[in-house]
Amino acid sequence: MFKVVSNMNISKNFKISEFVCKEGKNEVVYDYKLIRLLQEMRDKIRRPMIINSGYRSHSYNQKIGGSPKSQHLLGNAVDIRVNGFSPEEIAKIAIKMGFTGIGVYKNFTHLDVRDHPHSRGYSYWDMR
Ligand SMILES: [Zn+2]
Repeated sequence: MFKVVSNMNISKNFKISEFVCKEGKNEVVYDYKLIRLLQEMRDKIRRPMIINSGYRSHSYNQKIGGSPKSQHLLGNAVDIRVNGFSPEEIAKIAIKMGFTGIGVYKNFTHLDVRDHPHSRGYSYWDMR
């Protein structure tokens, strides 16, 4: 974990502040594979991707009732929405691109790069 003191780009279209924990302590952890895949998706769909949630500290995760095994705790996950794409459409693209955890929710898509996905190569869930 490290503290963000300046808002640098970590890829062509993403700034580090977009992944910082919402707890307000400027803390962040991120896996570079996650950033790489997000940037590849950004290049493919050519639309801004709004990150609702990136890294979560344990205390923040508890506060919002997140799963104790959440990939957000590891810096492996984001919840995103993209104007013009449904959460399910984003999920379908994400599966093809190599994300290993994909969750479809009413207003966003959870994407992660977990190490031990389902045997088919990715874990998928639909919470709508
Ligand atoms: Zn999530």
